[in-house]
Amino acid sequence: MTSMILIAPSTAGKTECCIARIRELRADQLLAESWVLLPDRFQTAAFRRRLAAAGGGVGVHIGTFGDLYHALLARAGRPIPVASDSIVHALIKTAIRDAMDRGELAHYGPIAEKPGFIRTLRDRFAELKRARVFPEALEEAARERGPALLELARLYAAYQARLHDLGWADPEGVNWLAVEALEQQPALAAGMRLLVVDGFDSFNGAQLAALKLLDAILPEMVITLPGTPQMERAAHRRFARALAALQAVIPDAQVRALSDSPHLPEALARLERGLFESPPERAAGEGRVTFIEASTTADEAREALRWIKARIVRDDLRPEACALVTPDPERYRPHLREAGAEFGLPLRFTHGEALASAPGVAALLDLLQLPLRDWPRRLTLETLRTPYFDLTTFRLGPREADLLELVSRYGQVIGGLAQWEEALGRLARIERPPHTEDGESLARPDLPAGDGAASLWGRLQAFAGRLAPPTEMPIRDWVRWLEDLLDELRFFERQETHRDEASAAGLRETLRALVLRDQVADPSAGNYEAFLNELRSTLEGTYYQERHAWSRPSILVLRVLEARGLRFKAVAVLGLSEGLFPEVEREDPFLDEAVRSALGLEPRLEREQAGLFYQAVTRADRFLLLTRPALAEDGERWDPSPFWSAARALFTEERLRIQPEAPRPLADAASPEEILFLAVRRGGLPQYYADLLPRYKRLRRARDVLNARLTDDGLNRFEGEASAIADLLVERYRHWSPSRLETYGSCPYWFYVAHALQLEAVEPPELGLDPSQLGLILHAILERAYREAEDPRDPEAVLKVLEEAAAAEFEAAPERYGFRPSPLWEVEQDHLLERLAKTVRGLAELGGDWTPVAFEVVFGREGAPPLVLDLEGRQVRLHGVIDRVDRNEERRLRILDYKTGSSGLAAQDLVEGRRLQLPLYALAAQEALGMGEAVEGLYWAILSGRPGSLKLSKFSHKKGSYTYQGPEGAVQLARAHVGGILDGVHAGAFRPQPPPGGCPAYCPAAAWCWKYASAGW
Ligand code: SF4
Repeated sequence: MTSMILIAPSTAGKTECCIARIRELRADQLLAESWVLLPDRFQTAAFRRRLAAAGGGVGVHIGTFGDLYHALLARAGRPIPVASDSIVHALIKTAIRDAMDRGELAHYGPIAEKPGFIRTLRDRFAELKRARVFPEALEEAARERGPALLELARLYAAYQARLHDLGWADPEGVNWLAVEALEQQPALAAGMRLLVVDGFDSFNGAQLAALKLLDAILPEMVITLPGTPQMERAAHRRFARALAALQAVIPDAQVRALSDSPHLPEALARLERGLFESPPERAAGEGRVTFIEASTTADEAREALRWIKARIVRDDLRPEACALVTPDPERYRPHLREAGAEFGLPLRFTHGEALASAPGVAALLDLLQLPLRDWPRRLTLETLRTPYFDLTTFRLGPREADLLELVSRYGQVIGGLAQWEEALGRLARIERPPHTEDGESLARPDLPAGDGAASLWGRLQAFAGRLAPPTEMPIRDWVRWLEDLLDELRFFERQETHRDEASAAGLRETLRALVLRDQVADPSAGNYEAFLNELRSTLEGTYYQERHAWSRPSILVLRVLEARGLRFKAVAVLGLSEGLFPEVEREDPFLDEAVRSALGLEPRLEREQAGLFYQAVTRADRFLLLTRPALAEDGERWDPSPFWSAARALFTEERLRIQPEAPRPLADAASPEEILFLAVRRGGLPQYYADLLPRYKRLRRARDVLNARLTDDGLNRFEGEASAIADLLVERYRHWSPSRLETYGSCPYWFYVAHALQLEAVEPPELGLDPSQLGLILHAILERAYREAEDPRDPEAVLKVLEEAAAAEFEAAPERYGFRPSPLWEVEQDHLLERLAKTVRGLAELGGDWTPVAFEVVFGREGAPPLVLDLEGRQVRLHGVIDRVDRNEERRLRILDYKTGSSGLAAQDLVEGRRLQLPLYALAAQEALGMGEAVEGLYWAILSGRPGSLKLSKFSHKKGSYTYQGPEGAVQLARAHVGGILDGVHAGAFRPQPPPGGCPAYCPAAAWCWKYASAGW
């Protein structure tokens, strides 16, 4: 019947005092029953260790309030099944549905079925239960406060009634029952001699009720609180509330203060006693307290781990003696995980991760979406590539995903099984994909065609058939269906990492819970979509944790509230920027402050987060790091938090500002990658790191090469130098097309990447035509119209048949060229027809007595002779397709080359070697095909309906004293360029050289080329 509230600042010896009292009692009465209650599992483990270190306390019960409640219920002979997360989720959902069916949710109706609403209700119901607010009390309070709260109260009552009918409790409901049992049978706790409650800085309603009852029953109770009996300091305000609440339920408790000073180095002790005090007692941090300001949260996490690694290496700390405290674990988790893996630091997160975000489970949810979303391209390809499924039964896997990716680009598959079928069906009907006008392939050579395409469709179809869900059935049957599927895909056998295994176990557990829930809550049949929604929302609300053996040393990553009561040698507190810590306080839209106050719930405003910060910074026995990000995600400056400023005011040292680009000492490196990076920057690798020497040399060479490339110094002569493969290229390209020559003429490195390496820029397919398909269609229409016109010289005669020719080509185009019409295709056709008509008229307006005599004239292919250029004894064979050849009455020729776009059609493009087609086509018609003398040639830009400015008859270029004049001069110049290009290829010279006007977006090197020049607007 003696209860004591023991108050002292952090680290002043409260826990030691408790341990001493336990040992004293045990020395006196060996078999006396003692209990120690702590906030969570981490604190219970830490207390156990400290008790063992002090000499042990075998038989002392160390646990949480929850453990005590279960023990009391067991003693009362009333053990009760506890509903899992998923059962609670289902019962709340059932309560919502029932209320909606009765038309009782006028206020929350629009959001009632959203997963977020169910999660919110679950949190609020748990909070109400922790505060021992019974449904009747909430309904009573709601009567005067409007319909929203009344609806909430009714849902709470319905949920609780359902739970009660089933004879179950939720985790928070156990405390009600335990307190009720204790009220009815105080003898349940009669055997307890001592109860110690340590590590708390606040208590909820159920805990206070239990302590009140136990105070009346137990001979001795010791409750510790941080602070001082007066609780005057700003840092202690949070604890003042806890003290007042305790004194309200245990009015006779003695309050005792410990007189010991905190057992801390002076700098940390000063922080403890001076935090938020005025004026600040300012002095040096003596290496005990460090402040780091990093650019982003990612850099901040990295710097915090670097600092911890330094403590482990230089100060000989063990990983488990170090901790990171974050205000927002989800924000920091990926950054910490990544840097921890790079630095070789094992981390143990105290907070689980949503099952839905585990890689294997996320892959499964994607797979299950396939039939619902009708096999969208990206999801289909990712599913075939994921390592979590064994698809060998269907003869599908990553290789087939690559093929389907080619198919999707060729056939513009955006999504839909019908689109896959159509694209593969079209390929199955052809032997090889269509080609461009000059014979360059539109598609990759490994694009499946013929039987290969048919077989691929068969396999995809079989897989789709297996995933096609049945119609309606109860959840337990859906779960069985899913488990069969997972077995077939060997999903559980394919989980490799600890994280995978933990999440797979969580998934099994969730499926079991869904079946159980079906039995107890809602056994009605539902469709596949409803099942998937149920599964997804349950997985989103269920958390899993990687299992680490407790014996494995690791650094704890804690939430701020979890830090209280624990002690470490080194602690890093992250996130000290405005709005992150302290968190922005907002009123709860479901239970406002007035309701909270009336029901005895924790307030949402004025939460006294300063007390949490005090708790966090007083966890370190030797070293403390405080960090903050200076930039928010959107790049805006992020102001320091008042907590950061208050702590900084106590120390004379400047904060360290970390700028990722700034040089830093090699000693700061925390991973081999960082050592190499910094060593290359400083220009030397110390002997100590000799094992990294080969990597260092490679990296340094790469750095030198890149620098030389960027600075145009003497080393630059090696840029683009690939003479080793020159012979291979000469062998590969015995025949040339003008467009391939032009690629080299535009930029040798572009040629190297596109033709020597045969890489292509990969873009996800989009509905509608791509530029090469558009070019093919326009060419075909013009060819057809001029061929079919009664008099191809008469524009009116051509216009007369143009519409019909266009309609036929437009209709056949999707199948022929493999594109999927966009919804605008009809409108596009009108626009294209208009452009084509303008071309017909425009060509007629050029004048002259030209008669079109040949279209799509092939040379160097399909049995037609090639154009052979003799370049000073070296022969070059060229092939291509001339769009149109006109002839005049003197039987002389005009060469026309249609272009879709209008850039690069000037004489200067020929002069600089970027556009060679026209003179080479003229020469081919004249020499290879013997069609007559070519006296004119021009490019025609179809979409803009006008000619390019280069005209062979008017061409003139002066070089030195020589003038290249007319078609002959243009041919002469083109020959010279071809010779130069071949010299370059034979020498293996592929230096990047951005074309004037910028690099084309379709250059496959655009993503990495160090000379890339934007084309601008
Ligand atoms: S990005 Fe520009 S400079 Fe680089 S290879 Fe392509 S065209 Fe040449």
